[in-house]
Amino acid sequence: MLKKILKNIFTGNRTLDVKEDNVSPVQLKKKMDPVFGRSLRIRQVDAGSCNACEWECTALTNPVYDIQRYGIDLVASPRHADLLLVTGPVSRQMELALRQTLDATPEPKIVVACGDCAIDGGIYKGSYAVNKGVDSVIPVDLVIPGCPPEPGRIMEALVQMMEDIRQGRS
Ligand code: SF4
Repeated sequence: MLKKILKNIFTGNRTLDVKEDNVSPVQLKKKMDPVFGRSLRIRQVDAGSCNACEWECTALTNPVYDIQRYGIDLVASPRHADLLLVTGPVSRQMELALRQTLDATPEPKIVVACGDCAIDGGIYKGSYAVNKGVDSVIPVDLVIPGCPPEPGRIMEALVQMMEDIRQGRS
């Protein structure tokens, strides 16, 4: 990955090599524009993850994926977000914060559970300190499996979601 990033920086090539992924940012943008008017703002919420899922989410903005050039960005406040990308099983301490984050998010309030822990508790399942995934605390629209899911997989899931919204599927 580092080699690929450096090669792109030094050759000025900012095109994503999508061979190892199923979807490119260009495809994502085409699906996204009719729904979100050329911008998608994502608030990433760490609800008690081991941090590996955050690394993959953050990688979406590195020079390889560089989703910002397509109008997709991570934002610091839920008030500026279209979508909550939640990782982790939702620890008890994060339960109230997650609910308040959802309340602060404007419609359409799309919630994505990113990673196995966010889906059902994952490796933390059964612990007294966590919930059973995001949908045991707030409603979830989309799940992205993986431990952790790689950036290409996250993009692929977002594309599918955009397609579903555009075609009126829930
Ligand atoms: S799904 Fe895997 S990588 Fe993500 S928070 Fe859970 S244990 Fe960590």
